[in-house]
Amino acid sequence: MDGWQGLDDELDAWAGAGRVASLWWRDDDATGDGMALRRLLTLVGGMRIPLALAVIPAEARADLADPLSTSPDTTVLQHGWNHSNRSLPPARKAELTAGRPWGEVMAELVRGRERLAALFAGRFLPVMVPPWNRIDAQLIPHLPAAGFRGLSTCKARISAEPVPGLRQVNCHADPVDWRGNRGFAGAEAVLRTIVDHLRARRTGLADAGEPTGILTHHLVHDEPAWTFLADLAARVCRHAGGQWISLGAALEPTR
Ligand SMILES: [Zn+2]
Repeated sequence: MDGWQGLDDELDAWAGAGRVASLWWRDDDATGDGMALRRLLTLVGGMRIPLALAVIPAEARADLADPLSTSPDTTVLQHGWNHSNRSLPPARKAELTAGRPWGEVMAELVRGRERLAALFAGRFLPVMVPPWNRIDAQLIPHLPAAGFRGLSTCKARISAEPVPGLRQVNCHADPVDWRGNRGFAGAEAVLRTIVDHLRARRTGLADAGEPTGILTHHLVHDEPAWTFLADLAARVCRHAGGQWISLGAALEPTR
């Protein structure tokens, strides 16, 4: 069964097994206050859905604190340092590459962490969200010493704790068609990705302890994407077999 019915059926299967499927929501590329950000915060705030907002430290503005002040369920994560592409073609875009000395990269990330902690005290979680969801594996072992306790990229995680002291919680579905026209990727395609991950967790083919992550970019959503996200948010809230959880909760080891 496809589409919304497929999501309902999958959540029914979780509920039927006496389980609740956890989902979480990450939104990337925030820098300051704006209409699109306010729209997103209103959407999630109306349903008390926790939101993890990945902010670009070098470009973060103090006015971002204004809309956050009325969004108690929103936390701030760190999106690299300045979202610049450090890859050399034909490698795919990435900021956190091994092309520079790791000490130099970490110094920037520490600077970013301190900046976000100062701007958004009390809301900031030291979780690294690499721009373009890419980080060179050689850099990951240095993150805990740089003050990070979490890492979030995309696709089902390989390990809940890739290095000691660092928990990983990824995103699995993205409503934007980045390779096409950057419009909405379509409900069928996005729901299929969500349901596939939920089913894999339920049946033991994926780590059941990793919540299914929705990755959004408020600055580029078209109207169909906004409509889809509002529908998805409400459907999960309504269903006994689904629940939106905070990244803070997701980072805790599952028992
Ligand atoms: Zn980004």
